Amino acid sequence: MSKYHDNKKAAVGSEIECPVCHKKFKKAQYSQAFCSRECKDRFWNANRGNVKPSDEAVFKMEGWLARDKNGKLRLWVSVPQKEMNFDHGASWGRPCEMGEWIKVDKDAFPSVKWEDLEPARVEIVIKK
Ligand SMILES: [Zn+2]
Repeated sequence: MSKYHDNKKAAVGSEIECPVCHKKFKKAQYSQAFCSRECKDRFWNANRGNVKPSDEAVFKMEGWLARDKNGKLRLWVSVPQKEMNFDHGASWGRPCEMGEWIKVDKDAFPSVKWEDLEPARVEIVIKK
């Protein structure tokens, strides 16, 4: 079990050991803990109900920052899409108003621009 949490904490690019088949491999992405989808499924089938969420899941979440044409900056909880023909002028949105967002000071993150083709993926981290 601790190998699973160790793998979650390991840096991308470091060598980790699969908790199921014990194969060693290089961690390729942030949340990776298993060598393959098969090992991941086997692990969760065997450990259903007795794995507690790691610190990572408890203290972090993902969001997306996007700037509307009028300069307004918003933090979205799901990926927004660029909408050019919106009633209120060109902005980012979600189909059927389903997306939730938080207004962010418009002077923050000047690197996030309306011209961007994709929203900027960010992490919200609780400082312990
Ligand atoms: Zn494996």
